[in-house]
Amino acid sequence: MKVWQQPLPPIYNKLSDAELRVRIQLAREALGEKLVILGHHYQQDAVIEFADFTGDSFELSRKAAEQKNAQYVVFCGVHFMAESADILTDERVRVILPDLGAGCSMADMANLDQTIDCWSQLEETCPDQLIVPITYMNSSAAIKSFVGEHRGAVCTSSNCRNVLEWALKGGAAAEGSGFRLQVSAGSSFNLNPEPRTLNPPKVKVLFFPDQHLGRNTAHAMGYPLDSMVVWDPREEFGGNDPQKLRDAHFVLWKGHCSVHQLFRPEHVDQVRQKYPNMKVMVHPECRFEVVEKADLAGSTAYIVKQVEAAPPGAEWAIGTEVHLINRLARQHPEQKIIVLSDCQCLCTTMFRIDLPHLCWALENLVEGKVVNEIKVDEHTRKWALVALDRMLAIKGTGNPIGKQQPVATTVD
Ligand code: SF4
Repeated sequence: MKVWQQPLPPIYNKLSDAELRVRIQLAREALGEKLVILGHHYQQDAVIEFADFTGDSFELSRKAAEQKNAQYVVFCGVHFMAESADILTDERVRVILPDLGAGCSMADMANLDQTIDCWSQLEETCPDQLIVPITYMNSSAAIKSFVGEHRGAVCTSSNCRNVLEWALKGGAAAEGSGFRLQVSAGSSFNLNPEPRTLNPPKVKVLFFPDQHLGRNTAHAMGYPLDSMVVWDPREEFGGNDPQKLRDAHFVLWKGHCSVHQLFRPEHVDQVRQKYPNMKVMVHPECRFEVVEKADLAGSTAYIVKQVEAAPPGAEWAIGTEVHLINRLARQHPEQKIIVLSDCQCLCTTMFRIDLPHLCWALENLVEGKVVNEIKVDEHTRKWALVALDRMLAIKGTGNPIGKQQPVATTVD
């Protein structure tokens, strides 16, 4: 059941930022070690100021799980991140999202009903193939759980290539439990506990929900664009010809990030014309044509590391969320750092987490009242954890899109 954000008591919107800061600080002190505040890289500075840890969604959830005295995790991010934190932390830890309206447009582009429908259509169309579902971290707990239950795994933008390599070898269906893949007499594969000779079926990866991360990564692995199809959940067979669907190695869910999709190839051209020495670095949620033109691409953690390692005088045009870019520019005045375009590349849903909501959530906790708790049900949690654990067990050295050389010495 969807729960909406209740209006804040009017006082919180009347307080000045200075007053809110004082009250937030007092609430933090009152809660002490029981409280951990997490701030995603894309969060606004006024909120980040109060974060005990900053990072990307997965880093933050793991950090929360390491805090043994924490009873409350206040996640200044978006809904799917708070779900991941609830999945990864102990049962006793209560996870709070200060504004329930802070969702993620990308995660919302794939729901469980659509996924079940897609799965049955793929099984019907490709009965002799092994379909391995992989979901990006930026998806709901329900999708992560579906993937876990269907022998797939989660991936992040840092390890996407390793996870796809694992999936193309058959994913969890091809490993562990003494099971082996077997092609059955009826030409559909099944799992058989008695090992026998087998002809491995063709493997197809179903990738949720970001088509761009899937496409950029698969292409960097050497797969041509025509080995991928896009699955539109509103159309039969995802809008594909059944034969094309059978031939494809990758079925990419028709989802995208509304922030990263704003960057276009002409933005790269414009930067190159104006600043010939500038390196262009983008997130792999950007569309393929942008990543192709960029010098480097990688996760938010990768982008942060490249800037930190670069020498004075380095020049960057970065294609990711504006709060992170502006923060990097302030932290590194010895470098020139600009946003790749002047589009409003702001995560508007994350921006809903502000000082009034943070203050309201914390002051309720001080009074012993948990507001906006994010709780994942037991079944969903169990299988989502399986999908996350599989990701953690996958080894490899591949980078997401093949453009991740260290750049500290390459600045002209
Ligand atoms: S930046 Fe994009 S993917 Fe990240 S939370 Fe915002 S809408 Fe979702």
